[in-house]
Amino acid sequence: MKPAPDSLDAEVPAPGGARHPSPLPSVEQLLSDARSAPLIAQYGRSQTLDTLRTLLAEARARWGARAQPGSEPEIDIYGELAERLAQRAQSPIRRVYNLTGTVLHTNLGRALLPHSAIESVVAALGTPINLEFDLERGERGERDTLVESLLCELTGAEAATVVNNNAAAVLLMLGALAPQREVVVSRGELVEIGGAFRIPDVMVQAGAQLREVGTTNRTHLADYENALGEHSALLMKVHCSNYALQGFTKSVDIAALSALGRARDLPTVADLGSGTLIDLAQYGLPREPTVRETIAAGADLVTFSGDKLLGGPQAGLIVGRADLIRKIKRHPLKRALRVGKLTLAALEPVLALYRAPEFLAEKLTTLRLLTRPAAQMQAQAQAIAPTLGRVLGPEYRVEVEPVMSQIGSGALPVDLLPSYGLVVHALARRSGQALNHLEARLRALPQPVLGRISKDALRLDLRCLEIEQQAGFVAQLERLCQSSSAIEAGATRGGEPPVRP
Ligand SMILES: *Cc1c(COP(=O)(O)O)cnc(C)c1O
Repeated sequence: MKPAPDSLDAEVPAPGGARHPSPLPSVEQLLSDARSAPLIAQYGRSQTLDTLRTLLAEARARWGARAQPGSEPEIDIYGELAERLAQRAQSPIRRVYNLTGTVLHTNLGRALLPHSAIESVVAALGTPINLEFDLERGERGERDTLVESLLCELTGAEAATVVNNNAAAVLLMLGALAPQREVVVSRGELVEIGGAFRIPDVMVQAGAQLREVGTTNRTHLADYENALGEHSALLMKVHCSNYALQGFTKSVDIAALSALGRARDLPTVADLGSGTLIDLAQYGLPREPTVRETIAAGADLVTFSGDKLLGGPQAGLIVGRADLIRKIKRHPLKRALRVGKLTLAALEPVLALYRAPEFLAEKLTTLRLLTRPAAQMQAQAQAIAPTLGRVLGPEYRVEVEPVMSQIGSGALPVDLLPSYGLVVHALARRSGQALNHLEARLRALPQPVLGRISKDALRLDLRCLEIEQQAGFVAQLERLCQSSSAIEAGATRGGEPPVRP
């Protein structure tokens, strides 16, 4: 906020320096008018003053551009002022409806947290907690202890630590265990996760040397074996999160790799990416290796994300051998990458849900969304379709159709989950344009609705619209009737539609 200058009515020249005797009132007059009082009370004097100055400068500039003073239509300056102030006050952080069909959408904040985690975070926001304080001994503690034993219980690991995200977990692990030494990785696993996280680049940043073995499609145990030498520090496996190798392929599993590691006295580490704590197949979902299995198969360390399949907050979890975790915790980067109290407050209750797997599909929001039966979304689509059809009018046709959801965030990239959605076709001649226009109108709603245009239709997958949200969603659709003209007036500005799940 700029400090207010001595004179309230600092003259703002019109562009080009043109100056006209202005019929506009002074800033002083406007600010002391009774109609400004409620705005000053709500927004404070300084930003009301700033906004008024801007408005007046604009009015003068417009005035300056007119040949004929007096042709200016009277402006409702208090109305405009109230609107500008309200606009400024609106948070850029908006709640949206994720109807993209991607459940763990990176651009939309990935996992939605369960009720118990929300309550825990809310409590930690306004109350001191024992973040780094051992209540039993009455002395300084370590923040990792709040979740460490739970993580060990759920994964079979000896020790655990938590950092800001999984990219940080990988960086820290390599930096702590392989400085200036070689990390052996299969060429088929040198993945780019998106957002510039590439395994080879992370190696460089960590000060480790990448030793690539095998070929893109096939890597054998002998390839790893032949690469090991005096410079080796780690054997590493990376989950190919966002792509699948099919056809003539061969990779070495973690059991065989870690057996080799043990024979050569080298730790074997696995970056599982999404990482899950439970066998997803029991819910009819595609199978993913669990963290426990990976540890049991012999991995010395496993890294995974907190906000992918785990269903928690953004975090990077490292679990495994106690001596290695100790080394990691002592590395200076750990301090830089550590999590805050809100993350721990959110993570602990999420992990605790895994102690009662019977309730998981109901209580863990991510799993609840992933396991919703298609018939539920079909019923929702049928209930919403008439309203959407009516508000969109005769230029569009709304249908209830099967669609395919994705898990997202690189988890099980080729597997799709059958769902139902509202599929909107544009009947106009330039249907592509009409669909883009509709997409923008939905995005401009107070709670923006984000869908996906594909195969000449706008698809709104209802998997992530839970039943309790449906009434609010439908009520908001009524605004679409009036929104068309606002969009044409240029209200479509805003972010690009999310592209990277
Ligand atoms: C997603 C992913 C990462 C990065 O995890 P973030 O939590 O997004 O930092 C790293 N490795 C793999 C294999 C991943 O899938």
